[in-house]
Order: sequence, then structure tokens, then C-alpha cells
Amino acid sequence: MNPERIDLFALNLDGLKRLMTEWGQPAFRAAQLHRWIHDRHAPSFSAMTDLPAAFRAELEAHARLGVLELADEQQSRDGTRKRLYRLPDGQLIESVLMPYQDGRRTACISSQAGCAMACAFCATGQMGFARHLSAAEIVEQAWRFDQELKAAGERLSNVVLMGMGEPFHNFDSVIEAIRQLNDTMGIGARHITVSTVGLVPQIDQFASLGLQVKLAISLHYTRDADRNERMPINRRWPIAELIAACHRYVEATGRRITFEWALIAGENDSVSEASRLAELLRGLRCHVNLIPLNPTRGYPGAPSSASNVEQFVTTLERAGIPATVRVRRGIDIDAGCGQLKSKRERAGGSRDGLEGDPGV
Ligand code: SAH
Repeated sequence: MNPERIDLFALNLDGLKRLMTEWGQPAFRAAQLHRWIHDRHAPSFSAMTDLPAAFRAELEAHARLGVLELADEQQSRDGTRKRLYRLPDGQLIESVLMPYQDGRRTACISSQAGCAMACAFCATGQMGFARHLSAAEIVEQAWRFDQELKAAGERLSNVVLMGMGEPFHNFDSVIEAIRQLNDTMGIGARHITVSTVGLVPQIDQFASLGLQVKLAISLHYTRDADRNERMPINRRWPIAELIAACHRYVEATGRRITFEWALIAGENDSVSEASRLAELLRGLRCHVNLIPLNPTRGYPGAPSSASNVEQFVTTLERAGIPATVRVRRGIDIDAGCGQLKSKRERAGGSRDGLEGDPGV
């Protein structure tokens, strides 16, 4: 494969026009290509039937429509579609499409193959880090869903970077991908969410970019001793420093922050933990997203009971902290982070060259 080939879905109309000029093609080819790629969901250059054969051959030689090869797919009873893609170097990544009753079509996409953050309760964290994804590899996951939705008269409306990987560990490619999702695929910045384990310098950097993109922070614990144990990154940037960065972010952007909290039975779901959380977040423009833990093979925790979830929400709300319980999607198909890949590897017995690299 020619590594120089350009992923055309990542270019907006201006980018395509520049490329056509470079190639000595008439400018209207850019609009033709744009239509084929974004409106008519052509699966290949050979399907672009109104382009001259010589030009199609040139496209085949110098451009491409992505690299993701579908390795597995599962569909949940609730409509959630979970995919495992193989990258050209054999790495496996996951993407999930979640259709909602209100018409939203949300893609949850990966930013890395594996993850170096090693959160104990996370299936991807349990695998270790393999490599960063390029911006094109990130965008292609969303583009593929968008193509298929368009073929059915719908479109992708939202993207969350909550799949495999730590987006802020792969900062530059993630920001480039966000710009492409926004600019090339027309997904509104307010409809894109990036979620971080809490890399403080990157939170500050992200705030300085002035994007309208939503920020979510995976908090899960209010005490450093608890967070250190399950989320090793906390030893580098403890809770007080993380919350201080969140205050700076809200001040700089005027935007609200979402905190994610996986409710784990008997571990972080007590009323006193909820009160400590409310205290920690006091005065911060924020919202808490609660999600009962998705059990994983490498962690003994279980999801909180319905009554504990209820108690936790009520305690937060009484203290003036808005909170919602996220519906667990695709629970019948292992749609939690990294779960499809780890299941497949158990079946196949291989780790696909994943290496641990906790040095971040
Ligand atoms: N690295 C990013 C994105 C990770 S996945 C981050 O840490 O934010 C998105 C969310 O799912 C994070 O809040 C993560 O902590 C959470 N998560 C991971 N494993 C989970 C599990 N087994 N059950 C529930 N939530 C989980």
C-alpha cells in the first residue's frame, strides 16, 4: 500500500479544490468528488461512474477512502451497533453507533489502539497501550457510520470520543480530527464531546483553543487514595489539581463541564461519597453523568443497585449539583469500552502485539 495516499473523506471542498489544482484537474472535479464522498456514499472510486476512467485510476493510485477493515460487528436489541475494525498494521479498535428515540445518532469512537492510562475498571485500560491513531483513522470511524446512515436517509448527528484510548494523550491528532468532523462532515462542535481521564496540561491547552466542543472528565472518586489505586494518572495529577484545571477551563470558556462517574457497588456509590462529590464540585459550572459500572473481566467491581443509584442522584441534586443517570446502551453486546476486543482476544488467544506502556 502506498503510504502517501490521501484519505479524501478528511478533506473539505476547499481541500479537494486545492488537491485538484495540484493534480492539474479542472476545479469542478472537487465538487464531483465531494458529492460522491459525502452525499452519495460511494464505497470506492470505481463506483464514481461519471468520472473519467483515467482520473479514477489516478485516484486509485494516489488517494483512498479510508483504511478500516471490518473485523466484527454486533447489533443490540436497543439498536446500538458495535464494531471492531482492523487497521493496516493489524491493530484492532472499536466504534459504537447509538441511535436515540429523539433522532440523535451518536458515534462513540476511539482515539488510540489500547490505552496507556491503565484505569483498573476499564477493559481498554486492562489491555495496555499499542499506538496512537492518526486524525484520519479517528475521523474514518465516524465517516463510515455517517455514510451508512445517509444511505438510509439519516445522518450522524453527534460524536463522542469515549471509545478506546485517552484522547488527550493523542492531543494533536484528536484536535485535527475534531476540526475535520466539524468542517468536513458538518458535525456541529457542540455535538462533539471529548472525554479525558484528567491530563491537566492538555485541559489547559484545550481551553485555550476556544472550540465549542464539550469536555467530559472521568472522575469516579473524590479521595486521592481511592483514585490513586484505580486510576494511576491521579498520582501525577491529583484531584485538587484536576479540579483547579476544571475551574480554569470553565472560566476561560464559559462552558459547563461534565463529570463522569461509574457507579461501583460498595466502592464509590455511598451517600457520603455523593456528599463529598457535591462539596468538591461546589461553585463549578458542571453536570454529573452517572453510569452503573459495566463489569469487566479484569476487575471485581459490580454495578450499583438501582436504589443506590437513586440515592446518589438525589444526594447530588439536593446539594445543587445537576446529575443524570446514563442509560447503559448495548449491554447485551459488550458495548462497554474495549469489551468486544477483549472478548475476541480471549476467543483467539492473541493480544495482537499490544504492549503495556504505562509511562505517561
Ligand atoms: N480515556 C477517556 C475515554 C474513556 S471511555 C476517559 O478516561 O475519559 C469513556 C468513559 O467510560 C470514561 O469515563 C471511563 O472512565 C468510563 N469507563 C471505563 N470503563 C468503564 C466501565 N467498565 N464501566 C463504566 N464506565 C467505564
